[in-house]
Amino acid sequence: MGHDFVVVGAGFAGSVIAERLAKVHGKSVLVLDRRSHIAGNTYDEHDEAGLLVHRYGPHIFHTNSQDVFAYLSRFTEWRPYEHRVLASVRGALVPIPINRTTIQRLFGVNLPDEAALQRFYDERAEPGPTPRTSEEVVVRSVGRELYELFFRGYTRKQWGLDPSALDASVTARVPTRTNDDDRYFTDRFQAMPTDGYTRLFERLLSQRGIEVRTGVDFHDVRDDLDFGQVVYTGPIDAYFDRRFGSLPYRSVRFEFETLPVERFQSAATVNYPDESVPFTRITEFKQLTGQDHPATTIVREFPRADGDPYYPIPRPENRAQYERYLELAARTPGVHFAGRLGTYKYYNMDQVVAQALAAADRIAEARRSAA
Ligand code: FAD
Ligand code: UDP
Repeated sequence: MGHDFVVVGAGFAGSVIAERLAKVHGKSVLVLDRRSHIAGNTYDEHDEAGLLVHRYGPHIFHTNSQDVFAYLSRFTEWRPYEHRVLASVRGALVPIPINRTTIQRLFGVNLPDEAALQRFYDERAEPGPTPRTSEEVVVRSVGRELYELFFRGYTRKQWGLDPSALDASVTARVPTRTNDDDRYFTDRFQAMPTDGYTRLFERLLSQRGIEVRTGVDFHDVRDDLDFGQVVYTGPIDAYFDRRFGSLPYRSVRFEFETLPVERFQSAATVNYPDESVPFTRITEFKQLTGQDHPATTIVREFPRADGDPYYPIPRPENRAQYERYLELAARTPGVHFAGRLGTYKYYNMDQVVAQALAAADRIAEARRSAA
């Protein structure tokens, strides 16, 4: 028997759309993922030592959206968690985002209040028009020295590009603080799914009307399937056989290591902005998950060009290329694109969920009018 929809990809985009189409709109949905598991890039599992690890890099949930948080809370309980990150700079470990502690420790100055810290930044900031690039956005607010210490090397490693070649929005994700707040995020809701992300997805996809097949690439089976429409959450250029060329993506190699110690480092994540260090950051999972265990597993992230596409690369020429695909998508009946790779957007999990919730209603509507 056929399905009303095939959803390609069992990450947040595909799974949320599948759940809504099945539950709210009564559709039958086949969810495919070419990987051997559900949960997309948020997939977590216990490693050989029994530590819960995120196979595709550390994932910390945070959102300002009450709707997104309430929706996901149907499928998981939460463990309150606020992420904190230190940066290894000039031999010291200091808070990033840059805050009062960072500046006082690094420069040996005493800045008694927010105004004093703001003056410190202002004296170094390079004035100019509204920043367009990831270099300008930092240099305009805190100056070149802090930019070079914290942002230039990290960004060049992470993206394989100089910050001057990336949209301002990339480094603008990491603000500068004028107080002592050392949390990485300031969102209203910050938490980790108590039983992990994979368990959340098992509940999300257990909705009646959904069938899940993993280890199946849509392009290998599409001709054998009987379905109405497609929701595609893989890379949009792959759907169209890269007709307008390959969209650039950034990949990462994750190197896991288990150590026979209770705790490896003094924060959940330590960033290494220096270009002489080949990885960008080290994360210690038990500090995210709260797991109690005599050993610990860490992951080092080595960014690279080849490999699974993880990050769309925000810069004007890539957006222009994506827009050609978007325009083609609008002219192609029976297929809808969603998610970080499907819409070529550098989105966090909560943004993908919000996008998917909105898209599901639109997609169900399109199905009705097409029928
Ligand atoms: P994905 O999770 O990538 O799912 C797409 C799925 O489609 C994949 O499983 C893929 O196998 C499948 N697929 C593709 N093509 C095919 C095909 N032809 N046939 C079958 N299946 C196919 N966000 C946060 O909010 N907080 C964080 O701390 C955070 N940390 C991150 C760290 C790293 C290293 C990375 C890479 C991302 C991080 N994110 C974080 C972002 C988060 O991973 C994404 O926002 C979210 O997972 C995107 O969901 P998605 O469904 O769009 O894509
Ligand atoms: N960034 C940086 N130094 C840091 C942290 C971040 O230069 O210590 C820049 C870098 O370009 C990075 C971007 O800010 O890609 C966004 O950082 P975020 O931590 O949000 O990246 P993600 O978790 O998505 O990899």
